[in-house]
Amino acid sequence: MGLKSIKLIIALMMIFTLLQSHPFSVDAVSTQSATVQADILNVRSAPNVKASIVGKLKRNAKVEILSQQNNWSQISFGKNKGWASSQYLKKQNLYGYITATSLNIRSDASDKSKKIGSVSKGTKVAILKTKGSWYYIQTDKKVNGWISAKFVSLSASKQEENKTATPSKESQNTNTSKNVNGKEFYVKATSLNVRSEPSMSGKIIGKLLSNDIVKALEVKGSWTKIQKGSLQGWAASQYLSSEKMGTEEESEKPSPEPIQTEESIKLVKDANIRTGPDTTYPVVIMGKAGTVYKKVGSNNNWFEILLENGTKAWVAGWLTAPVTNSTPSLGGLKGKTIVLDAGHGGRDPGALGKFNMEKDLTLMTTLKVASLLKNAGAKVILTRSDDTYLSLQARVNVSHSNNADAFISFHYNAGTNKSSGIITFYYKESKEKALADYIQKGIISNTGMKDLGTRFGNFHVIRENKKPAVLIELGFISNPDEEKRVAEQDYQNKAAKGIFEGIQQFFVKK
Ligand SMILES: [Zn+2]
Repeated sequence: MGLKSIKLIIALMMIFTLLQSHPFSVDAVSTQSATVQADILNVRSAPNVKASIVGKLKRNAKVEILSQQNNWSQISFGKNKGWASSQYLKKQNLYGYITATSLNIRSDASDKSKKIGSVSKGTKVAILKTKGSWYYIQTDKKVNGWISAKFVSLSASKQEENKTATPSKESQNTNTSKNVNGKEFYVKATSLNVRSEPSMSGKIIGKLLSNDIVKALEVKGSWTKIQKGSLQGWAASQYLSSEKMGTEEESEKPSPEPIQTEESIKLVKDANIRTGPDTTYPVVIMGKAGTVYKKVGSNNNWFEILLENGTKAWVAGWLTAPVTNSTPSLGGLKGKTIVLDAGHGGRDPGALGKFNMEKDLTLMTTLKVASLLKNAGAKVILTRSDDTYLSLQARVNVSHSNNADAFISFHYNAGTNKSSGIITFYYKESKEKALADYIQKGIISNTGMKDLGTRFGNFHVIRENKKPAVLIELGFISNPDEEKRVAEQDYQNKAAKGIFEGIQQFFVKK
């Protein structure tokens, strides 16, 4: 299909969305928001590649996932429904508020299962999955379990008054009435009240959270009437930010000139090598894990590489690790056993960002560091190499049974949406502080992230470890800006290089 017809389809789809007076509404309880992760994503009439195409979505388009079947997701977009390949949909974490005075958290999705905790009214919980009328949730104290969906509101509770944005006096009467029907906006406040009337005296009927996506229905003065799921009411316009204009123009442009670099990359897993920077492009070859390519450019999180025959092709950056062209053979790492521990995994997602789970980020960084260490002659043992659950003691046991020379645990932090920075923890100052200091220095000098220093930390995997062990917190995914930064391949590669250099320094200076 030519660019013109794609443009036409996109234009028609946008007009269609704008014309809707009553936005498509589904049972908000069972859906999850997601964004499209391909330049163009086909939507089909049934969950298979032979089914007819009923629509096309562009990158970053917002959809609701209604159900899932094998690797397909049934989605709603605008007023339409269809099926799309799940691998190109990035789920947005869903949050809810407890409406019961006290609600039991259970070990399974049943009233008869073991009670493992409780949550009180107004508590915000992350909803990780649903089963019947039950939610599998995580509290801010990192307790995971099942709660009855009946007592969870997806629009915010009315009690939470703090940190609420209120419109400033001077901006009250600046805008005139406008028709903005159907336009999508992002919420730009930690918590934004939705009121029954376009005035501060209007009753609070709900709350929106940072980066919530709402549909604007009407503008009156400095107030916008919004809709999100079943919630409809008035919010202060100054905390609503419109989507960047002209994005589809940009995505139609050819990719920018590749930047000439002298870097090489190595595949950490078998990976499809494609003709373009996206999974929609055809596969040229299957690259084997361990293969090294010269990197000649990048686009989003994809790398342009030079193949043996001299042609250029693309690979997903998260399947690669950096290779330092001139790895100085300092000798310090040769024959050393390094255990790398990707924090969390399986049923334990760790901290939750808006788009990323800690367990996925820790594994990505770990695989990159593993590649760098192997390259320098170290023996590398991973406590986990895929998305599996492992107890804390099982991780320590890997360190002991392999007689590790060093044990490094990888984590991403959670705090407030403003928290920022890197910390490396040690437990035994005499044996471990030097290792922590080198690693911390390596990360900061490579990434330029905020330096929160090395600290004593009373964590199981380093406390119970008889081998030199440190735990790294590689940035706060509770902070949306920092979450975006740490999920980028540029950051992942720089952080991995910093950690590698730190470990290397430690063994050279020892
Ligand atoms: Zn963690």
